[in-house]
Amino acid sequence: MDRKKQFWAYAIMAAVCATGVFWIFTRPKAQEYDGGRRLVMGTFARVVAIAEDGRTAARYAEAAYNSIRNVDRLMSDYIADSELSEVNREAFHRPVQVSDQTFEVLERSIRFSRLTDGAFDITVGPLVDLWKAAADANSEPNEVELADARSKVGYEKLMLDADNRTVKFQVSGMRLDLGAIAKGYGVDKAIETLKAKGAVGGMAEIGGEVRCFGVSPKGKTKWEVGLQDPAKPSAGLGDEALLMVLELDDAAVSTSGDYQQFVIVEGKRHSHIIDRRTAMGAQGPSSVTIIANNCTDTDALATAVSVMGMEKGLELIEGLEGVEAILVGPAPGYEITQTSGAGRYIHEQ
Ligand code: AMP
Ligand code: MG
Repeated sequence: MDRKKQFWAYAIMAAVCATGVFWIFTRPKAQEYDGGRRLVMGTFARVVAIAEDGRTAARYAEAAYNSIRNVDRLMSDYIADSELSEVNREAFHRPVQVSDQTFEVLERSIRFSRLTDGAFDITVGPLVDLWKAAADANSEPNEVELADARSKVGYEKLMLDADNRTVKFQVSGMRLDLGAIAKGYGVDKAIETLKAKGAVGGMAEIGGEVRCFGVSPKGKTKWEVGLQDPAKPSAGLGDEALLMVLELDDAAVSTSGDYQQFVIVEGKRHSHIIDRRTAMGAQGPSSVTIIANNCTDTDALATAVSVMGMEKGLELIEGLEGVEAILVGPAPGYEITQTSGAGRYIHEQ
């Protein structure tokens, strides 16, 4: 090879390498796909997926929405042929076999009931129904009705058989209500799907239950989750006044409270969260936010602490490894209290 040819060979090689290096540094590292709000589980679900390119991210997000729809099909009490509906119709008459997913939710529910001494209890269905009927009739339930509903409530009356994956009720008229845990479980299933597919980051949200992981959206170093101010409830979607912003990289957040969901009976407001000890709406904090590594736990614990109240609730969460709480007290003071490790998630303004 003469010198001129050699020169050009080197020059071309150098140019190819330089282009390669330039491409490595400038190529988009990850693309985000936001699937938007979609109606499921009686509320809205939203999934954001981050992957090597936009089409892949969209595919992952669609798979995550399917996981959520699957949980809804199993555990909804609006769907007549869901497993939960079948359990509620049949489980007093015979043991009803359910899927692994439904059984897992029932088992975890019982564990939360034991942990919270019944503050969390998925057997509250008859009391939920009684208070809904009271709201429709605008008349408080009487003692007989309350006593009757109470006799059908209690996780001790719910028999789970792990070997056969069956559910059995001890008392006629029992009704399971997974409204305080199924959304969180749906979020977990969506995140597990995103991770299993290979997403480098993502977020799933169902009716305010949120979990995120990995690479956050463009321009952000972490995922940001706004907490609504219970003192300034919103009139519609998207106009919420924020109490604070949480910054998360791999965590779940749930908020429970009576500031948006409640029933009014004879002019009095009753929380949609029931305290089985009193058979009444919970009288606890106006909002309870729980942060942990999975959304099934945060969903259930946020509801439980709403029943337990500020002091007992804070004590419970303080004792749980890797779980934090931010509580806003009842009106009109709206005093903010938090567990000792919650501060690291709060974005300083
Ligand atoms: P959340 O919004 O997650 O706090 O869940 C509230 C919903 O859970 C209510 O609308 C009821 O369907 C159900 N529920 C009410 N009280 C309880 C309770 N003490 N334990 C478990 N679920 C409950
Ligand atoms: Mg909940």
